[in-house]
Amino acid sequence: MTATHNSIVIGAGHNGLVTAFYLAKVGLKPLVLERRPVAGGAAITEEFHPGFKCSTLAHAAGPVSPAIVRDMQLERHGLEMIRPEMRVFAPSPDGPDGGALLLYDDAARSSGSIAKFSKKDAEKFPDFQKTLGRIAGVLNRVMAETPPSIDDPSAGDLWRLLRTGKALRGLGQKDMYRLLRWGPMAVADLVGEWFESEPLRATVAARGIFGAFLGPWSAGSSAVLLMRAAADPHPAGNASFAKGGMGALTRAMAAAAVAAGARLRTDAAVSQLAVKDGRVAGVVLESGEEIAASTVISGADPRRTFLRLIDPVHLAPDFLGRVQNYRSMGTVAKVNLALDALPWFIPAGFSPASDATGAAALTGRIHIGPDIDYLERAFDDAKYGSFSQHPVLDITIPSVTDPSLAPPGKHVMSIYVQFTPYKLNNGDWNSQREAFGDAVVRTLAAYAPDLPGLILHRQVITPHDLEETYGLTGGHIFHGELSLDQVFTMRPLLGWARYRAPIEGLYLCGSGTHPGNGLTGLSGANAAREVLKDWRKARRG
Ligand SMILES: Cc1cc2nc3c(=O)[nH]c(=O)nc-3n(C[C@H](O)[C@H](O)[C@H](O)COP(=O)(O)OP(=O)(O)OC[C@H]3O[C@@H](n4cnc5c(N)ncnc54)[C@H](O)[C@@H]3O)c2cc1C
Repeated sequence: MTATHNSIVIGAGHNGLVTAFYLAKVGLKPLVLERRPVAGGAAITEEFHPGFKCSTLAHAAGPVSPAIVRDMQLERHGLEMIRPEMRVFAPSPDGPDGGALLLYDDAARSSGSIAKFSKKDAEKFPDFQKTLGRIAGVLNRVMAETPPSIDDPSAGDLWRLLRTGKALRGLGQKDMYRLLRWGPMAVADLVGEWFESEPLRATVAARGIFGAFLGPWSAGSSAVLLMRAAADPHPAGNASFAKGGMGALTRAMAAAAVAAGARLRTDAAVSQLAVKDGRVAGVVLESGEEIAASTVISGADPRRTFLRLIDPVHLAPDFLGRVQNYRSMGTVAKVNLALDALPWFIPAGFSPASDATGAAALTGRIHIGPDIDYLERAFDDAKYGSFSQHPVLDITIPSVTDPSLAPPGKHVMSIYVQFTPYKLNNGDWNSQREAFGDAVVRTLAAYAPDLPGLILHRQVITPHDLEETYGLTGGHIFHGELSLDQVFTMRPLLGWARYRAPIEGLYLCGSGTHPGNGLTGLSGANAAREVLKDWRKARRG
């Protein structure tokens, strides 16, 4: 071993950076090793065409936990968030008054737009927003806590469970029953109980399938909605962007971690964990360099960590079998466009270049998926091994609120695409790349007819690219399905949800641990707390 560190963090994704910060803050000197040339993991900004920069992958924050933003002083390290009043603009090809549904931060404003589709829905929407807010408030507390031990709960576990129970009771009987009932439900049923208009149902239901191998009629899709709502309770989801793209968020996190005392090395891929006498001894890099450390915290996904970085002789066959069964088959791809001008979304009256409402409509996220059947059919394609010809799209045009991302008058469009199965039945992703890009542009052209003529450059990122280039095994954006059998005390595995691994000194801190539901930083913060608990105990011992 050529060098010694008291702790190593594998991967400079946002969770790895948060873990490194909290360790450094109490005097440890963690070394963060990132395989790519840049830190940030799936939260990065890159120039993909001369003069055009875009959030390559994730384009909206989870949002990051306010406590983490405060502790890391991210604003002092250059982070500036953009939070438009517009949450989601959902154009629909055939609705009344041009068919555009506009959902704002403010429920009353949203109701004004919903009323075009249904007066009943407009009346119910503020109640739904408040109800989801109350229920999500309880789940939000749970996100920042370590899941309890099932076999041997400690006094602290019992105390936290008691507090959660109290918060649940505080919801009142009606909301408590709702929470218990909603989790296993299909999100299509849930929205169907509240609303009658398809554009509103589909826009809210889209949160229940975000990143998941689930359609709106799949059982448990409401649980994904609830988990996403725990981070941001708005029914339409988050519209929280970083000035400079999501890379600005992780740049600020890296600066905070380094300022606290962490060391960051890029182009430093870990090929293997060194294990001696049943405990972690350090890591070996792909270059052959060996670095000793008594604590290693992996921000890589669970399958990559246990199946690729560790010699199987160090893990029990039963444990390895369970990791093999951990599901992380992605269904998401990304298309980023450099545009000559802002596209013009039908109908008339939504010309973004000339119309104030139209321009404001493009400041939040744009949802394409006008009804529940559309979402389900898009999933059907993936179920049978094809990418959808009519995919569900979640789009941002960040250059509308942040002109620094494109040359004057030009724009960038970031398109999150679902459903795109990791395994294709016919052909492979490299041969299908352009056909897939064409399907996305064709889908969007039904809503913004001038878009194809405005494209100066197109970047297509397939699920295989997510795995090969960005290190997400199976191309899964959350390092593993957020399904009911893979969350909380079962994330990643029942019995191993407390950030520790079955090798002494090895921990997990990435999205494959609780809560793992997007760019919140909470997996990283929770993991750091557990590492430090053991570290203090060892020092006392
Ligand atoms: C296309 C896409 C769109 C998304 N959209 C959103 C969104 O809009 N909102 C939202 O909240 N979330 C979104 N997400 C999810 C979110 O980005 C992830 O949940 C989050 O980035 C996970 O962070 P992480 O730090 O746990 O892991 P990652 O960001 O995956 O970081 C892990 C890091 O570990 C590195 N690594 C892996 N193996 C090794 C090794 N052997 N040696 C060294 N380094 C290694 C990787 O290179 C990577 O940098 C999206 C994700 C994707 C892919």
